[in-house]
Amino acid sequence: MKKNTGKTAAVVLAAGQGKRMNSQVRKQFMELEGRPLITYALERFEKSEVDQILLVTGEEEIAYCRREIVDAYGFSKVCGIAAGGKERYHSVCNGLRALQGMGITHVLIHDGARPLITEKIIRDAMEGAAEYEACVIAVPVKDTIKVADEERFAAETPRRDRLWQIQTPQAFSYSLISAAYEKLMSREEYQQGVTDDAMVVESMTDRKVKLIMGDYTNIKVTTPEDMVLAEAFLRMQKDLWKNI
Ligand code: C5P
Repeated sequence: MKKNTGKTAAVVLAAGQGKRMNSQVRKQFMELEGRPLITYALERFEKSEVDQILLVTGEEEIAYCRREIVDAYGFSKVCGIAAGGKERYHSVCNGLRALQGMGITHVLIHDGARPLITEKIIRDAMEGAAEYEACVIAVPVKDTIKVADEERFAAETPRRDRLWQIQTPQAFSYSLISAAYEKLMSREEYQQGVTDDAMVVESMTDRKVKLIMGDYTNIKVTTPEDMVLAEAFLRMQKDLWKNI
């Protein structure tokens, strides 16, 4: 694998509404094993080979994040906190723009709602970005997936051995992903149905995106039952580290 010799930043997204969590407290600040959820991903990037971290959060939460998250937990790699936008792609774009002029060569875009990201995943994503310019962490799907028609009858069954479930981080050369996002933002019709960064590269450039094997534990905490799973996986990881 090609070694990343440039300067890498992680863009950590925490500007979502977390509506599917049905909680008073925003999902990213909910307590997981006694700590705000967002601190897990930040801590793992802090301890990794990533050079800088750019946190994206709601505009009205920037001061709180600086005080209660970044300063309180001593995340020294956080070089800025940007305000997110209405959709995930707005938040990513704001994060990428906030990194302009910092000499960043590669960027890892990560959902702050995925607290179980590991050292290996970060390393593999960094190497993937250096080798392919565009890559995403993913796992093969375990279930059969069907495409439904408008009346919810099964319309199609894609071959399972070609289907991958896409996670984050998604890692890119900074110039490629910035250009792709600027093109995306230039016309509203380009933005229809965009749910991840790889799609932006696929649709706005002629570059291919490599899928890199991730880990089934790297879940996105979206609904209340995911908190139970995340807690169980966190304890499992702590037990593994104890035995190393
Ligand atoms: O909503 P979704 O599950 O796609 O969110 C994935 C990640 O993107 C979460 O960490 C969430 O906080 C973030 N997000 C964001 N800005 C938005 C929507 C989502 O930063 N407008």
